[in-house]
Amino acid sequence: MKNKANVVVIGGGVVGCSIAYNLAKKGVKDVVLLEKSYLSSGATGRCGAGVRQQWGTKQNCLLASESMNIFENFADILQIKRDIELKQKGYLLLAYSDKELEQFKKNIEVQHSLNIPSVLLTPKEAKEIVPNLNIEKLVGAAYCAKDGHANPFQVTLGYAEAAQRLGVEINKFTEVKDIKTKNDALLGVQTNKGFIECKKVVVAAGGWTQNITKMAKIDLPIYSERHEILVTESVKSILDPMLMSFSYNIYCQQEPVGSFIMGYGPENEPHSYNMESSWKFLETMSKKATWLLPPLKNIRIIRQWAGLYNISPDRQPIVSQINQVEGLYVACGFSGHGFMLAPAVGILMADIVTGDKLTYDVILDLERFNRGEIIEEPSVV
Ligand code: FAD
Repeated sequence: MKNKANVVVIGGGVVGCSIAYNLAKKGVKDVVLLEKSYLSSGATGRCGAGVRQQWGTKQNCLLASESMNIFENFADILQIKRDIELKQKGYLLLAYSDKELEQFKKNIEVQHSLNIPSVLLTPKEAKEIVPNLNIEKLVGAAYCAKDGHANPFQVTLGYAEAAQRLGVEINKFTEVKDIKTKNDALLGVQTNKGFIECKKVVVAAGGWTQNITKMAKIDLPIYSERHEILVTESVKSILDPMLMSFSYNIYCQQEPVGSFIMGYGPENEPHSYNMESSWKFLETMSKKATWLLPPLKNIRIIRQWAGLYNISPDRQPIVSQINQVEGLYVACGFSGHGFMLAPAVGILMADIVTGDKLTYDVILDLERFNRGEIIEEPSVV
């Protein structure tokens, strides 16, 4: 392991690997990435894998559609031979009240301003796309045929492989234990395998980010929360798009291999680092899923697990420098949409670290909370 670097990236999830790759692509030398376990071991490898451009704020639409362009051309852009299993068979957002449907209409106007090809559907039209969908109580839906899901392991490993080709040193099973500062500037990072002297550190450590910035005496306004998820046996294809409802609180997709992946947002979940599975989730998830897609009632569940959402005050990402410590940056607070935004976030953070003009006209800085500028995104889980 190098003992000196220009930039140390902490976290080997999709966000850290995208940032490391984009820094190297911009010509930054001596980038070192540190991951305490294996790549994708955090939220990335535990996520629902959905990628959607159907957002209600212009900046999320922009970051998601720019990311989608990258997902669509991933192997070519990164010059790697890797199939990220992008399945663009649509994303169907279900509305169960007139209010929800009205919001979808407003969102679609924003999406159309960026040429995102989303449409509003009647329940009958939704059922034409998903014939097995229970449309009882359904008021309408929003749909974008270009959305879908991809394989988060392949995306992360793709970024890591391309980053290494460009000279990034990736150290797995290397845990950051301390961040050393002097006079509010960085001296370096202490790991379980030695010290790395560096003036710039990007913390992209998902649900553990707040613990790492604390090492540099920075308290971030974020917390972590367990989200559970499961996978079923593989069956013949009965669901093309990813399904999601904010009010019925569910997401569900069928992977290219035929297994269903599904989850829902927990209610009254304490802030924690707990990643254990619960019986309650299994029971509630089964009831929700079989109501929504009745043919699922005979399917067998193979495995359940959990991961951490990292949540900021407006449930939107923080991609920012930290003003109090020169050279310290964070990319965190992604709630349930860090995978789908990671390609654009990597580009954005590389711009911030190098001091270049931002590629995307977005505001995700930490100081927005001090300015009272909460991002009001209606389509967040
Ligand atoms: P992580 O993937 O958590 O990576 C952080 C890494 O930092 C970890 O690998 C960890 O081991 C490492 N680390 C931590 N501490 C240290 C240390 N001290 N030293 C070194 N390394 C350290 N997003 C979507 O876009 N679509 C979805 O459908 C979706 N579904 C989700 C479903 C669930 C159940 C969950 C939990 C999340 C979901 N998300 C989804 C959110 C998405 O998974 C995350 O926003 C995204 O993966 C965050 O990536 P990351 O790289 O920031 O964090």
